[in-house]
Amino acid sequence: MPEKTAPAPDCCSDERTGAALIPVDRAVEIGIALAQPVAEIELVTLDDAYARILADDLVAPMPLPPFDNSGMDGYALRHGDIAPSGPTHLKVTGRVAAGDDAGRAGIVGKGEAFRIFTGAALPQGADAVIMQEHVARAGDTITLTAPVPDGNNIRRKGEDAPEGSVLLSAGTYLGAREIAAIASVGQPRVQVRRKVKIALFCTGSELRQPGESLAPGQIYNSNRFMMMAALRTPSISLRDFGAIDDDPDQLRLALIKASKDADIIVTTGGVSVGEEDHMVEQLVAAGGQIDVMKIAMKPGKPLSVGTLNGAIFIGLPGNPVAAYTTWKVIGQCIADKVSGLKTSKKAVFQVELARDVTRRAGRQEYRPARIIGTSPSGHPVVELLDHSFSAKISLICSSDGFAVIPPEATELTAGMKLSFVAL
Ligand code: AMP
Ligand code: MG
Repeated sequence: MPEKTAPAPDCCSDERTGAALIPVDRAVEIGIALAQPVAEIELVTLDDAYARILADDLVAPMPLPPFDNSGMDGYALRHGDIAPSGPTHLKVTGRVAAGDDAGRAGIVGKGEAFRIFTGAALPQGADAVIMQEHVARAGDTITLTAPVPDGNNIRRKGEDAPEGSVLLSAGTYLGAREIAAIASVGQPRVQVRRKVKIALFCTGSELRQPGESLAPGQIYNSNRFMMMAALRTPSISLRDFGAIDDDPDQLRLALIKASKDADIIVTTGGVSVGEEDHMVEQLVAAGGQIDVMKIAMKPGKPLSVGTLNGAIFIGLPGNPVAAYTTWKVIGQCIADKVSGLKTSKKAVFQVELARDVTRRAGRQEYRPARIIGTSPSGHPVVELLDHSFSAKISLICSSDGFAVIPPEATELTAGMKLSFVAL
């Protein structure tokens, strides 16, 4: 169902009150500017390095590969022996397999070839390898059945990374590929930034733990487990403070406690403008400051960002969908900067809209969407889900990501290109 079209307001003002709102990109910029990467460094073994952030450039202490070697199973030969016309016959006089010391295998002499296998060091005298499928072998003699370009099938010492080159730069996320690169140059340990200390609590007098029984008016606390899962990564050390009632004094004390020994405080709920929303006021009462509030984002307008006792405060809205969206789009970028990550990697790509959609202008919208096919130009085609989705957790569970609708857009037509944040 299309939404009703309201008179087009300014692109960054509240569609209901007309009040100025901060554009999403600006909110990200302000949040990132507040963040300082953690300074301390730890030395970890490679089996503990997964998902940590590299502290310093990793300079290759040896060339990669460490020696010239064969890229094929075949025969190592001297290129100059190849007959300019007619067949070339060579005598097989040696053999080198991966792990053999080629120096002990001898020298490939004139008119000779060595049997060689992938990864084996190139024997002295040889300057090309022919793959075994391109020779006919009879006894100790091979006859070449295909041309052999000079230097063919040889992986040269240092061609992947010369000794002294920067293999990985400081601030790199250590995934499986990066850990392989560190191992390949023989380093058993690596220096990483220390973990980011995040304190988490949820607010709301209506919240109960899953497993408890619900009294009238109560709901289960989904944000707590959602955020514990979202923050479960080796570069974060999480302290969970559970749920706090909508009580100003309790909230202020919880904020002060959470700010002790935390780089970031993440909370959910209580940042809207209702009478029971005390978070921002209590952050200020505790001595903190707010740098971002009221964002031109749907869902997620109430997201608030500030600082308290040297910790960054990220106050996510209470609606689970809004909390998740604002965490993915803004909170995560701030946490990435604190972790020392040099570039925050978000899986954002272009998609095409399946159907016409009409909406109200005002805020940049992150609309849950499903990929339903591929367009003739090769873009994923997406179907937007229900427009009133902020509180519908089931909707984000059945979506593949968020289609990003620009603040000013009111008439979206089928085939239009949108950015898409994959979940
Ligand atoms: P608030 O931001 O506190 O005004 O909350 C907005 C909505 O989200 C309300 O309907 C709350 O009941 C709901 N909500 C707040 N916190 C949570 C939570 N931790 N888990 C599930 N729903 C919540
Ligand atoms: Mg509340």
